[in-house]
Amino acid sequence: MFFNLALTAALIIFGFGLVYKISTWFRRNIGMQADNYSAATRFSEAAKGIVGVFFSRDVFTLIRVFIVEVLLQMRIFKEDFLRWLMHMLIFAGFMLLLLMHALDKLITVNIFSDYYSTLNPFMFLRDLFGLMVIVGVAIAIYRRFILKVPRLKTNAMDLYAILIVAVIMISGVLLEGVKITSPTVFRAMVDSYSSLDDDEQVKALESLWVYEFGVVSEEVEAPFDEAVLEQGGEIHEESCAACHSSPKWAFTGFAAAKAMRPIALGLDSAGAADILWTIHILACFLGLAYLPFSKMFHIIASPVSLMAGAVMDKEKSHPANIATRQVMELDACTHCGTCSLRCSVAPAFDRLNNANILPSEKLIFLKAYAADKTLDEKGLRAIQEGIYLCTNCDRCTVVCPAGINLRELWFNVREELIHKGLPVAMMLTPFSFYRGLNRQGLDAETYRQPLTAAAEAVAANFKMIDAPDHVVALNTLDKDLKGQADASSQANTYAYCFACENCSTVCPVVENYENPQAVLKLLPHQIMRSVGLGLKDLAMGSNMLWNCLTCYQCQEHCPQGVKVTDVLYELKNLALKEAQRASGEDRIN
Ligand code: SF4
Ligand code: SF4
Ligand code: SF4
Ligand code: SF4
Repeated sequence: MFFNLALTAALIIFGFGLVYKISTWFRRNIGMQADNYSAATRFSEAAKGIVGVFFSRDVFTLIRVFIVEVLLQMRIFKEDFLRWLMHMLIFAGFMLLLLMHALDKLITVNIFSDYYSTLNPFMFLRDLFGLMVIVGVAIAIYRRFILKVPRLKTNAMDLYAILIVAVIMISGVLLEGVKITSPTVFRAMVDSYSSLDDDEQVKALESLWVYEFGVVSEEVEAPFDEAVLEQGGEIHEESCAACHSSPKWAFTGFAAAKAMRPIALGLDSAGAADILWTIHILACFLGLAYLPFSKMFHIIASPVSLMAGAVMDKEKSHPANIATRQVMELDACTHCGTCSLRCSVAPAFDRLNNANILPSEKLIFLKAYAADKTLDEKGLRAIQEGIYLCTNCDRCTVVCPAGINLRELWFNVREELIHKGLPVAMMLTPFSFYRGLNRQGLDAETYRQPLTAAAEAVAANFKMIDAPDHVVALNTLDKDLKGQADASSQANTYAYCFACENCSTVCPVVENYENPQAVLKLLPHQIMRSVGLGLKDLAMGSNMLWNCLTCYQCQEHCPQGVKVTDVLYELKNLALKEAQRASGEDRIN
């Protein structure tokens, strides 16, 4: 009765949670364009979009994405084999356990008329699927706590997800082990399923089960008489074999039974089987009820995100659907940290220690922000730093296994935040601004004003650039500059520059001006050489720094492997810090 009530409550909470969470995809907004569409419009546009896809050739794309990216998870495979293995073991093992074991009365019995959970192959498969999940969870723990994958952060939701799956699986294996050893369970089976009423026969059967199948008994003890075991074998074939395979096939439970053999009788009299069953069932119900509100909701949202991403196009899809998809993508995040590992500005996190610089952490902020748009001053500045430091390099989007278009999310939230408060200076590229200030109603002067003001504020610290006739004295070289730039593994590549000028030749910003040197002061190759020489004033005073589009053309064309764009980026950060120090402004935290 209690368990039926608990199951009903879990199902009701799960159903309510599912409806509530999916409704937020239509009700919440990220970015200012989303404000233009009501929840009703977004819902009806989504319905139209889905119907449209099912009656178009895009349906084949959906099928391909479902097989390749949802079932086989090839995005993760390409990125990291160990993580793919972990994810596949947990995902496949858990789904198969759910379908074959947890929902056996709904699914398995209707497919296999001879189904018995204690018969093979079902008994063996249940343990195999369980073992898959346990190994997957062990890999997850190893990656997070022993391997310590760089920038992979673990929060309360990650711990909950690992814990709930671990409790379900471990209690399941221990329960199986206790049941195998339990004389009480053995006798209950004899009473329920056999017609034996002769004590001799029951003892013969019990002897066989102790000898062969791991039962621990006070009634019978080894060594057993051959004739008794033979009699037990015959009774087993007649009464048990039709609905009970050898427990050895439940190999994880059988291994647990062997391990707990010395304390099996104590566990049996303490009612361990009932306790473990209660823990196992209640953990399953809790996992089910809390699924829509936890990180585990990505089981539903990630496939939807991957498939929506495959058939949607920013140019062609209705803006209401783009707004809906962006909120849904927040639920699709598995907090795997792949984006943060690849993020081109992640080195800035190592220096500034602002977690909002990492895309995986920014996304968590965005989720909370989309739910409740309030932000205190400190929170606003921390997220501004994270959002504006982004170079729009798109690396996070390319590697995200959940198919989240992160760059578009950053664009939209940047736009919204700029309208909420003054942008901080650490976003000094026109490219960073182009969406943020490209709003109807903002004239060209307003568009340029924050960028110009911030660039001027920083450049004011580096005067040498405005004195072209100035003779550089060798004793003014800044020896610290090289050390500062060397702090990042990308930036220290400037030393390999041999001034071939390729970077400046391919640069679209340089190409844009008839006389680039007059506007930009130093070109990319000259900046690389300036850093190499320790000419801080020249390197940081160049307008090129603040006009760089972070298009990575220079970096890709450098024959020496100099990470030109990354060096420029590091210089920008260093210049900003200098300007902050000079003005006495606190570092943004
Ligand atoms: S787009 Fe921004 S957040 Fe994403 S990887 Fe590039 S710098 Fe990092
Ligand atoms: S955004 Fe994508 S890559 Fe980044 S943590 Fe989430 S799922 Fe992983
Ligand atoms: S392309 Fe490379 S080697 Fe050539 S000038 Fe630029 S940074 Fe130096
Ligand atoms: S990334 Fe390189 S090529 Fe692109 S704008 Fe900046 S300096 Fe020029």
